[in-house]
Amino acid sequence: MAMIKLDQVSKYYRSEDTVSVGMKNISLEFELGEFVAVTGESGSGKSTLLNVISGLDGYEDGELFLFGEETSHYTIADWERYRGTYIGFVFQSYNIIDSYTVYQNVMLALEIQGYDKHKRKQRALELIDQVGLTSHKNHKASKLSGGQKQRAVIARALAKDCPVIVADEPTGNLDSKSAEQVMDLLFSISKNKLVIVVTHDYSQVQAYATRKIKMHDGEVVEDKPIKKPEKVEPGKVIQPKRMPFLSLLRFAVRNLLATPKKLFFLMIMQILVIGVFTIVYTNQISNIREIGLEQSSVYPSVPETRLIVEKRDGTAFTAAEIEELESNRRVEAVYPNAMNFYNETSLYVVKENQFEYGRANVDGTDSVVSLSQRDVDGELPVLANEIVMSANYDFNVGDTVVINVGNAYYWQPEGASTISVGTFVVSGIDKQDRDIIYFSEAYLNQPSANESLIDYQKLSNLSDRINYELMINFDGDQMYGYRKEGTNITEDILFDGGGTRTILTNQTIQFSIYDVNYQSQISMTLTGLTLNVPEEIYYGFTVNQNTHDDIRDYFLTLLESTYTIEPKQYVSVSVSGFYAGNRLLNTLDSDAYKIYYPANISGAMREIQVFFASFLAVILLTLFGMFLYSIVHAVTKNVMNARKKDFAIYRSIGANKATLAQLVVIEQVMMSTIGFAITILLITVLSNNIYVLTATIKYMEVKDYFILLGAFMFFGAWLGLRFNKKVFNQSVIETLTQSRGE
Ligand code: ADP
Ligand code: MG
Repeated sequence: MAMIKLDQVSKYYRSEDTVSVGMKNISLEFELGEFVAVTGESGSGKSTLLNVISGLDGYEDGELFLFGEETSHYTIADWERYRGTYIGFVFQSYNIIDSYTVYQNVMLALEIQGYDKHKRKQRALELIDQVGLTSHKNHKASKLSGGQKQRAVIARALAKDCPVIVADEPTGNLDSKSAEQVMDLLFSISKNKLVIVVTHDYSQVQAYATRKIKMHDGEVVEDKPIKKPEKVEPGKVIQPKRMPFLSLLRFAVRNLLATPKKLFFLMIMQILVIGVFTIVYTNQISNIREIGLEQSSVYPSVPETRLIVEKRDGTAFTAAEIEELESNRRVEAVYPNAMNFYNETSLYVVKENQFEYGRANVDGTDSVVSLSQRDVDGELPVLANEIVMSANYDFNVGDTVVINVGNAYYWQPEGASTISVGTFVVSGIDKQDRDIIYFSEAYLNQPSANESLIDYQKLSNLSDRINYELMINFDGDQMYGYRKEGTNITEDILFDGGGTRTILTNQTIQFSIYDVNYQSQISMTLTGLTLNVPEEIYYGFTVNQNTHDDIRDYFLTLLESTYTIEPKQYVSVSVSGFYAGNRLLNTLDSDAYKIYYPANISGAMREIQVFFASFLAVILLTLFGMFLYSIVHAVTKNVMNARKKDFAIYRSIGANKATLAQLVVIEQVMMSTIGFAITILLITVLSNNIYVLTATIKYMEVKDYFILLGAFMFFGAWLGLRFNKKVFNQSVIETLTQSRGE
């Protein structure tokens, strides 16, 4: 039984309107041990014959028998198996992977056939030695001469240890000396193989050939034995194994690294695309997560890190209850004085020793818990006397500032209506203009920390009134008076207007004050203050500066001692964020406590809003993703097209389509995974300086990283699959022929 047998085989090439004959009615048989020379002028069908025999190309009529088996029903996979098992190729145009070294090219063939891992290296070196390229083994194929390339290709063909070697004009591009070496080599390996060599110069093979076949116009015109081939018993053929996944991975990495410039370029593009998509994604996610959440109107501007807890029975928290709250693992801190969470009292802030310069009127206070380090230039406050100032005030890290509660633009002498909060050191500057002073946890955890703020609110308005309007209840009549600025009145109190009254000198007078909105009048009798009152009293009065100050100080002292601070009926609790806040909301005993989470109040429509927002986000992200993807595709396509020839070569040395398809997908997934890792790293590093990126990172939760990674891996895989369709829709020989023309 012949090893290879052609029975009336014909092959036609069809283009749009012409049909040309490749070969017709060829009947031939080949046996192991033969060294067959195929000759004939150009276009006579030599290549066609070889391609059909080696399964690189199909045929139309007749039947090709391989080891007695009909092949007309062969599938692509069958042909791949056949090529992988039996055929080693040597082409005129070398078909070597230019970006690989000689060693890598040979190694590749061994890997593709799944050659024993431990003997692979040894075998590759032996083969390279056999073709005389040991000194060139680490040279890139693109740097070799034609003869060297062809010898490397032969080493690669031998790696397969296959019984048939086909060589289509292997010396066609070589000078006569190199040609001789190559033919010599082919002959030396032909001992127990079938070697079929195409040449238009018969004299080159004359010395070796056991048989000569001459073709003309697609037909065999001469088939004559030259010498008797040695009888060879068929050896054991090695079926190629599937490339293991790890080999594929290594293969993919090697392919990526083999062309560093391309890799760099593609990577930059990946990073840009992934970066832009990540920013758009987090933007959408933050939108969905916050939609329909209403800020409580009772506690405006409370950050998501704060909850307010009140006892249902309306009584104050005991120390034990506060301790119990603090022991909850979601709770970071409890502020017994709920004013702490966010205070909208205006603060009068002065740089120490600079009364006029460097004053600021700050809107409120908050705890540093609501800031993160990346919001701040400098450090977050740790010690009780450290604060973070807003960027829009002219303060620098290290400045010492005095904070008073009160109106910064208040015209009256210093201290008149302000209460000192204390002296602090600026540890950091909030990069955003938030008009808030952030106190350290150490400060806010002091029991008395914010009492001055509360005291102020009660007192300041009252003291304001005194400055403007004084009212005297005098023997049942009310009179309004004014403070007299300057010293041009010498009397303590001066009444004016018509009429006269008689009052005794040193009489005690009752003054009244109002709160700032005239909502309630607070009357007090100034029993301790003695005024010299003239004998005649008119409709109004004026007091001089000293008397005014006396009255004011007296009132303040009186009010401070009269107004005790109310028991604290609610506490503010700080948590790490939305998640912890919601957990706490659900775990605290709701019978005992009323809990407010001002930053996280769901509106009635929230669920519907979330649904529509998610729906829109999916559409938007999909469209945007497709758009970005089409850019990546367009760019990568060119790179992949340039690699088509490489893939054809892999197939010609036995790699099957499925394996290569996997390889392409693995490469693309690898690109996008590495691209994603680098992008996230870049965003994280740059987020300290670029605000858009700060916001991006802030919204990324662990699951978002996984979702994005998954999306990019999916895109990578999809890209790979699309290339597969393109790259592998042609037969090997079509690709090779085409790329030869390029
Ligand atoms: P040789 O290798 O002897 O030069 P070929 O086998 O390449 O000859 O070609 C045989 C005939 O088939 C020629 O007439 C050639 O033009 C034609 N032919 C070969 N390949 C193709 C192809 N891909 N498309 C159309 N015609 C082809
Ligand atoms: Mg040819």
